[in-house]
Amino acid sequence: MAKAADIQSKRLSKQQLATNFGDLHPPLSDHEALVESDRCYFCHDAPCMTACPTTIDIPLFIREIQAGHPKSAAKTIFNQNILGGMCARVCPTETLCEEACVRQAAEGKPVKIGLLQRYATDQAMSEKHPFTRAKATGKKVAVVGAGPAGLACAHRLAMHGHTVTIFEARKKSGGLNEYGIAAYKAVDSFAAKEVEFVLSIGGIKVEHGQALGKKLKLAQLQKDFDAVFLGLGLAGVNDLGLKNDDLPGIEDAVDYIAELRQASDLSKLKVGRNVVVIGGGMTAIDIAVQSKLLGAENVTILYRRGAAHMKASPFEQDLAQTKGVLIKHWVAPKKVLVKAGKAVGLKCEYTTEKAKKLVGTGETFDIPADMIFKAIGQTYADAATGALKLEQGRIKVDAEKRTSITGIWAGGDCIAGGKDLTVASVDDGRRAAESIHSYLSA
Ligand SMILES: Cc1cc2nc3c(=O)[nH]c(=O)nc-3n(C[C@H](O)[C@H](O)[C@H](O)COP(=O)(O)OP(=O)(O)OC[C@H]3O[C@@H](n4cnc5c(N)ncnc54)[C@H](O)[C@@H]3O)c2cc1C
Ligand code: SF4
Repeated sequence: MAKAADIQSKRLSKQQLATNFGDLHPPLSDHEALVESDRCYFCHDAPCMTACPTTIDIPLFIREIQAGHPKSAAKTIFNQNILGGMCARVCPTETLCEEACVRQAAEGKPVKIGLLQRYATDQAMSEKHPFTRAKATGKKVAVVGAGPAGLACAHRLAMHGHTVTIFEARKKSGGLNEYGIAAYKAVDSFAAKEVEFVLSIGGIKVEHGQALGKKLKLAQLQKDFDAVFLGLGLAGVNDLGLKNDDLPGIEDAVDYIAELRQASDLSKLKVGRNVVVIGGGMTAIDIAVQSKLLGAENVTILYRRGAAHMKASPFEQDLAQTKGVLIKHWVAPKKVLVKAGKAVGLKCEYTTEKAKKLVGTGETFDIPADMIFKAIGQTYADAATGALKLEQGRIKVDAEKRTSITGIWAGGDCIAGGKDLTVASVDDGRRAAESIHSYLSA
């Protein structure tokens, strides 16, 4: 079965690619926003608000839209979530606020909270920054990582009058908003525009190319700053644990997505004719859908359990299937098929659950692949070189996001119990900033 890999660029025309990578959820018009806001019951003790990790006052901002004040609505959102624009685009609302909406329970059609949030925030982001800084406190805070957690933390600290320096390893700010989120969720360089918006409050300096754990040391930051926040994300990747899983032909999905997000011309990006993705989360769906949109002919996701176990929401799973991706459940890769030093497919085994344990059935099949993507989760790479206590392999924090060392806070994907969602990282960053502010004000 093994043959030379068919991996090519220009599988589709530039025009087709532009269509394929267009906005997944186009914005609401003024009229649509008014009609949609009219559907809200403005519930007391609104369940949508409780379901939002950043506890945005959803009924209030929808009422503000309904009353014709979208910019006030945006301020209500930004007050809790300064990255409300990105969250409106990437939040799995179908498992958060919209799942909790009473109209979902009553008629299976929730208020389109995500799109209303986008409507409001889009109108306000091109305007003057909605918040002003408090009087300068003279306190300095180091934030490591310019992802959603770091940016949210830096913004709230700047608002309280502290001076913030963000140290970021990569060339651009934004973290996975810039390098990871599926291209069709954040079109028109939205991630970069949002960073500019967040920083426009003033009092925040970003130093790129500064990786903690290399020249930059935690001990030095502790000396030079009054407090430190770590928003390091997950820089490590899980291994498949199979022989030959590092051969050409097998790629890490997150690296490929980063390349895709930074490509100025998608037609130059190479993609296989037959693509196989291993995993069951958002990254698996994203790499599968984007491979298909780049022109791959057959894209198959292999997941070792059933649909209900997948970390990707039912909406994401449906999206993949409507784009032509095949999801094979209850299968696990057993062996990498190799030809001339390259991975050309996988031998897989069907799986089942026995006494709550996942076991192979013994029945196998081969699947050919020009490209195999690993999307089996990321791990925390300890940039603080053992100084901080870890829990389940990530940084241990308390409810205020304080780490085991006084003066150091952490939030986002790098902390234990992190939900691996943009909105949860923003919430961590803001909460940590409030805790840092209390510490610095004491
Ligand atoms: C492919 C993919 C798709 C996703 N899609 C969605 C989605 O649709 N919706 C959603 O809600 N969530 C999604 N997520 C999850 C979401 O992106 C993350 O939960 C979120 O970005 C975490 O924010 P963070 O700030 O903790 O980390 P990150 O966004 O990872 O940012 C961490 C930052 O720290 C920097 N950094 C790391 N180590 C160092 C160091 N040693 N020194 C200095 N800087 C450092 C990194 O370069 C990065 O800029 C997705 C994740 C992936 C991988
Ligand atoms: S639950 Fe639904 S109807 Fe009630 S306030 Fe929230 S969005 Fe409006």
